[in-house]
Amino acid sequence: MTKAVTADHASISPQHLPAAVFEELEIVRDPANLFHQTIEQVLIAAQIVGLRHHQQIILAQPHNEIMVHFPVLMDDGHHDLFKGYRVQHNNALGPYKGGIRYHPDVHLDDVKSLAVLMTMKCSLVRVPFGGGKGGVKCNPRDLSRDELMRVTRRFCSAISNQIGPDYDIPAPDVGTNAQIMAWFSDTYAQTNPEHERHDTFRIVTGKPVELGGSLGRDKATGQGLVDVLKEMLPELGIDISRMTFSLLGFGNVGGWTGRLLGDLGASMLAVQDHTGSIYNDGGIDPHALWDHVVETGGVSGFRGAERVTENEFYSAPVDVFIPAALEQMITKDKAELINAKVVAEGANAPTTPEGDAVLMQRGVEILPAILCNAGGVTVSYFEWVQNKSSVYWTAEEVDERLNTHMVLAARRVKVARVKYDVDMRTASYCAALEQIGKVYDLRGVFP
Ligand code: NAD
Repeated sequence: MTKAVTADHASISPQHLPAAVFEELEIVRDPANLFHQTIEQVLIAAQIVGLRHHQQIILAQPHNEIMVHFPVLMDDGHHDLFKGYRVQHNNALGPYKGGIRYHPDVHLDDVKSLAVLMTMKCSLVRVPFGGGKGGVKCNPRDLSRDELMRVTRRFCSAISNQIGPDYDIPAPDVGTNAQIMAWFSDTYAQTNPEHERHDTFRIVTGKPVELGGSLGRDKATGQGLVDVLKEMLPELGIDISRMTFSLLGFGNVGGWTGRLLGDLGASMLAVQDHTGSIYNDGGIDPHALWDHVVETGGVSGFRGAERVTENEFYSAPVDVFIPAALEQMITKDKAELINAKVVAEGANAPTTPEGDAVLMQRGVEILPAILCNAGGVTVSYFEWVQNKSSVYWTAEEVDERLNTHMVLAARRVKVARVKYDVDMRTASYCAALEQIGKVYDLRGVFP
């Protein structure tokens, strides 16, 4: 059994702290800033793998940060002004790639952080994409279907000269879905001079299957997480077909992960979403819960479990705790409550640095987000390839190829962990950075 690495691990010594890079780039480090936290973790790994200094400073800032404001006609006849972002972090490995989020708390630095994570993720799973991310500051639950469509079309037209099917390819994220990708791709196709070319629809992935979406994209992130667990858990002494787990978030990632794990025989004991927390020590039926969420909008009121408090949810004893909601939810206090052997990060950046330290001190193994949730971008890549070739794969082919990418990525992380003697998160960044460093060495820096 692999032993969890503790927070005071010798490999991450003061000389690895990237203060010099922050100073050189005049970044005033704010410990609460998600972008600064992410860059710091990446730069620590960069120093461990010996990434050249100029490559470190390139990666410490996004290539482009685009911010737009656009008016949208609301159903009652007035106009609201919306704020949108597209951040293009790095394209050394291929076109910028990353989701678009609709949420009231979308801020530039969070989008920058998520774009960095995309660069790392694409490199780790070896899909030929760089990292990007976008968002519109809005609450999609407060918008009618027509308003959502108009927000999407105006946002697409506001950034359409900055993206492209071979340059920057958005996808769904929190608060967006296949329908929104359909409106986005239609707007791009109608307003782009190349609109006669059918493959302009490649401008986004995560489209409905009828519009060129890939089979298996819907469940891809959950499926990828399950593939990673199958590869990693045996060495941690956990039998996936008999394990127990909790899910924080029961949307796309959480809902699919719960159902796929349930199908393998694992038992889902506790779930929390924005409507509340539920628990059943005999196991919650994930398919019945999914139907309930589709019908009512949340887990609250589900008859097959009892309602519990937030603290009871976090402290439920399980083998694996899976955050699949928003960023930074596992704070120090929550990490102290978690009663699991493994935390498998389905969400992006769900654990704060303080939460990370507590989990490591307590010997909880953390399987990091850039590995666990890379299934989504992997099948997005498959969708893009299928659109380019107009040859469409069966669901079985998609699953098989996804599994290959996920298993190889998990093995890369295991190898880096031993090679550099670091925790899993640092190892995943090391494995990603080795590839980016090789590509930069080969390409050089223009001119
Ligand atoms: P989603 O909108 O489908 O689901 C989000 C879930 O989080 C919902 O169940 C919601 O109720 C829950 N939630 C929101 N606020 C909460 C709160 N305060 N407390 C508890 N639960 C809360 O989003 P998703 O697509 O499943 O994405 C979830 C995470 O996974 C995000 O971090 C996203 O960036 C990441 N991710 C998603 C994909 C993908 O393919 N969808 C791919 C990679 C990473």
